[in-house]
Amino acid sequence: MNAARRTDVLDVLIVGAGITGLSIARELARHRVRTLVIDREPEVSMGVSKTAGSLIYMGLFQAASLAIKDLGARADLEAETRSERMRLLWEGFSGFDRLAHQLDIAHKHVGVLFFARDEAELAQLRRFQDLAGHIPGGTLTWLDQEALFRAEPNLTPEAKAGLLDTTGTISIFGPEYVIALYENALANGVRVSLATDFLAAESRNGRLLVRTGRGEFLARFVLNCGGKYADLVADRAGQGRDWNLSFYRSQALILDKRLAGTINHIVGPPPGPGRIDLLYPLSEGNIHVYGANYDHIEDRDFTATTEAHFADGIRRMKRLVPGLSEKDVVTSYVGVRVFNDKSVDDHLIEPHPRLPNLINVVVRMPGFTPAPAVARKVVGLLAGQGLDLVEKKKFISTRRAIPRFRFLSPEERARLIASDPAYGRIVCRCETVTEGEIKEALRRGATTLQGVQFRTRAGMGRCQRNHCGPRIMEIMARELGVPRKEITFKGAGSILAGRA
Ligand SMILES: Cc1cc2nc3c(=O)[nH]c(=O)nc-3n(C[C@H](O)[C@H](O)[C@H](O)COP(=O)(O)OP(=O)(O)OC[C@H]3O[C@@H](n4cnc5c(N)ncnc54)[C@H](O)[C@@H]3O)c2cc1C
Repeated sequence: MNAARRTDVLDVLIVGAGITGLSIARELARHRVRTLVIDREPEVSMGVSKTAGSLIYMGLFQAASLAIKDLGARADLEAETRSERMRLLWEGFSGFDRLAHQLDIAHKHVGVLFFARDEAELAQLRRFQDLAGHIPGGTLTWLDQEALFRAEPNLTPEAKAGLLDTTGTISIFGPEYVIALYENALANGVRVSLATDFLAAESRNGRLLVRTGRGEFLARFVLNCGGKYADLVADRAGQGRDWNLSFYRSQALILDKRLAGTINHIVGPPPGPGRIDLLYPLSEGNIHVYGANYDHIEDRDFTATTEAHFADGIRRMKRLVPGLSEKDVVTSYVGVRVFNDKSVDDHLIEPHPRLPNLINVVVRMPGFTPAPAVARKVVGLLAGQGLDLVEKKKFISTRRAIPRFRFLSPEERARLIASDPAYGRIVCRCETVTEGEIKEALRRGATTLQGVQFRTRAGMGRCQRNHCGPRIMEIMARELGVPRKEITFKGAGSILAGRA
C-alpha cells in the first residue's frame, strides 16, 4: 500500500475511500496533483458503498427511483428530468460500459421487468411507461400476460401484464468497482492511507492543517467524501454546517446461486413511495431479494439484521415468485441510505462557506451511477477554486482484474497453474476460488477476510466461509506475516480466531 508520510504537503486530501472519494481520486490522477485518500476503515469500500444494490441505472429503474420519491406532480417530474442530478446520472450511465472495460469490472446489462397484479398496479405501470419516456437510457416494451410468462415463467400467477426495459440497467458488484478505482488510482500515483481517521482540520496560511490518526498533513484542499459520516467529518473541521443527514435502512437477502435461471430480469411490482419489492438475478447466479420499506432510523449504525425484517423479506419475495423458499437464503445484510436536508433531492457538493478549501461532497442515492460525472464536476470545482490542473503525459487508463479461475478455459487454467501452482489448489469450494487468487488479493492490498472476499468471492457462497474460512486465514497469516489470531473479518472488533 502507498502509505503517506507525516510531513507531506498535499494538493488534495480526500476523506473517504468509497465510490465517491476514489472516483474523484482517479479523475485527479490524470493531472499532476498530489493526492492522498484516507479512510478510517482497513479496506476500501467499507462504508455505504459495500451495501449498494449494485446497479448502474437510468430508464425504467430511474423512473422507479422517482416514484419512490413520490414525484406525483408533472411539474416536479419535468424539473427533475432537466435537473443537474439527472445530467450527472446520464453522463455516468452512458460512459459506464467504456469505464468497465478500461478497469476490467465485471458487468452485465440486465432487463428490468415491472409487472402488475391488479388494476391499481396496472395504472401504476402505465404511469411508469409515461415517466420512463422522459428519462434517457431505456428501451420499453409492454408485455401482455402471455409474453410476460414467456419472459418470466416462475412469476406469481397473479401477474397480468408487464413493462420491460432491456437497456437501462447494468448489474455490477459495487465493491469490485471501488477496488478497481483504488488499484488504478494507486497505479497513477495517488496515495491511499487506510485505517486512518480524519480528526480535525484548521486553516494555516491558505492551506488546511489536517490531523489524522496517523499524523498531520498540510493540504491545499480537503474533500469530505465521508458518506453517512460526512456530517461528523464536517463537524471535526470545526466551522459548523447548515445541513444535516437523515438515514433510512433496509434489509436485503441473498439467495443460493443454485437458483440461477429462476428469474431472467430484475422483477417486481412497480415501486411506490418509500416502498420497493424487487428480485435481482446477480451475475454469479444468486438472487438478490430487495423487499423493503425505507425505514427511517436515528442511529445510522443500526446495521444489525433482525428476524422481523428477515421474515418480512421472505413474505415479500414469495409474493413475487412463490417457488422461492427461506431455505435458499445464503446471507442477509442491511444498507443505510443517506439524504441531506439542504438539497433533499440532490447531492450536496459545495465549498464550506467559512472554510472554502474544505469541500463537502455528500452524494445522494444513487451514488454509483453518477460517480464518474460527480468526480469530473468536483475536479472542475477545484480548478475554479485555483487548483492548477496540468495534465500528466502518461495516465494509465486501464487495470486488470484478478483472474477468476472458475470462469477460465482448461488451457487458461493450465497456464495459470504453471505460473503458480497455488492456482491449482481450490480453497473455497462454493465459489471455486483458488489459493492463487487469494494470494493475489493479498498482494493487491487486502488485509481482512472481507477484503479477500470482495476481491475473489472466497467465502461468499452457500457455506458463508464455514468450511474455507480457517484455510483462508491460514493463507492470510502466512502471506501477510501476521499471527492468525490477528486476522479480522473487517477490522478492529471483528476478531475471528475463536470461530475458525
Ligand atoms: C441499500 C442500498 C442500495 C443502493 N443501491 C444503489 C444502486 O443500485 N445504484 C447506485 O448507483 N447507488 C446505490 N446506492 C447508493 C450508493 O451506495 C451510495 O450513494 C454510495 O455508495 C455512496 O458512496 P460514498 O463514497 O459517498 O460513501 P461511502 O461508501 O459511505 O464512503 C464514505 C467513506 O468515508 C469513510 N469515513 C467516514 N468518516 C471518516 C473519518 N472520520 N475518517 C476517515 N474516513 C472516514 C468511511 O469509512 C467510508 O469508507 C444504494 C445504497 C444503499 C444503502
